Amino acid sequence: MNNTPMHCPGFEANKSLTSVTFKCPSCSKTVEVFSDEFDRPHKCPGCKQQIDFTKVTFEGSSA
Ligand SMILES: [Zn+2]
Repeated sequence: MNNTPMHCPGFEANKSLTSVTFKCPSCSKTVEVFSDEFDRPHKCPGCKQQIDFTKVTFEGSSA
């Protein structure tokens, strides 16, 4: 099970992950969150507020 020794380490994970971008409801900074992070608290990198996903406006998806 080692026939692809130089396989890109991020590729497999990316196949099952989607990410979405939205503007922080507090500071309007564009934030990107991956699909596996929706089930846990996420803080905005700009204003450090915990983001309420039910209140953000999603701008799109990278998928
Ligand atoms: Zn913010």
